[in-house]
Amino acid sequence: MNLLDISREFTTDEQCLAFLENQKWPTGVVRCPTCGNNKISRVVRKTSATTKNKRAQLYQCLEKTCKQQFSATSGTIFHDSHLPILTWFMAVSLVMDAKKGMSALQIQKHLGIGSYQTAWHMVHRIREAMAEQNPKPMTGIVEMDETYLGGRSKRRHRAKPRAPKDMIVAMRERSDKRSEGRVRYFHVPNGKVETISALVKKNIDPYINRIYTDQAAVYDFALNRELSKKHRTVNHSIEWVVPGSRIHTNTVESSFSLLKRGLIGSFHRVSTKHLQRYLNEFEYRFNERHSTQKFSIAVNRMCQTKPLPYKTLTSDSDPLF
Ligand SMILES: [Zn+2]
Repeated sequence: MNLLDISREFTTDEQCLAFLENQKWPTGVVRCPTCGNNKISRVVRKTSATTKNKRAQLYQCLEKTCKQQFSATSGTIFHDSHLPILTWFMAVSLVMDAKKGMSALQIQKHLGIGSYQTAWHMVHRIREAMAEQNPKPMTGIVEMDETYLGGRSKRRHRAKPRAPKDMIVAMRERSDKRSEGRVRYFHVPNGKVETISALVKKNIDPYINRIYTDQAAVYDFALNRELSKKHRTVNHSIEWVVPGSRIHTNTVESSFSLLKRGLIGSFHRVSTKHLQRYLNEFEYRFNERHSTQKFSIAVNRMCQTKPLPYKTLTSDSDPLF
């Protein structure tokens, strides 16, 4: 659904809420998020102009020891937001359809959001939720490669030490009849064997047909025995494709160049701390590019993703490394 479809489909907050509830509780059975009980009652609230956009239908858990009050947005990424759900939906659609990404400033302008902070917090929460939890391991033919972002220092700061570069590892399935060809991006602290082997173990089916990489030695050690048999490399100092074969990593490299053009073009500078969320966004857009359900998939993930408070986003501590 593009922005136009969304403004046609949803005109009231009630409609947005019904859609959210449907994503949260697809069978129609409302369950308490604290104890899992389905004996609940609806809390009737007085409505007035001032409560119009205030979160949702409230439910009360009837379990004696629990008595939790909750709504479809409790414990989710929407938690504590005062923006109308329709604004969230429109933001999701804008982020989803912007090929090279969309900055918080653009979102703020398009949707008439009062403050930049509010828009910034919202888009980071959308990106957080775009990550696929427990994706299926990659199959078929997989290309794997790494790239670096940043680390360039301006001339007048030449005396300063260079900022460390951020390393991104990507895996890309070649598309064939059975597979659309998904991509996965990981912001990693380093390119050590244990880092790479953990990623491979979690994300690549050991019984794939082939895995193609460049000749970086790390892959010789990071792949288990099963994968090593399927491993072929291309020597980039000599050639881009091993002659007479399909051995290359061009597909994953072209996805890197799209990613970099997007990150640099739309966001100019992305901090280490937030990089993985931007990667989630690019990954989502690519992997769902042919899906007719990409809007509801995103909203569904938002209903399953835990709150991400502004404080957590802006604190100095780096949750990644
Ligand atoms: Zn309960």
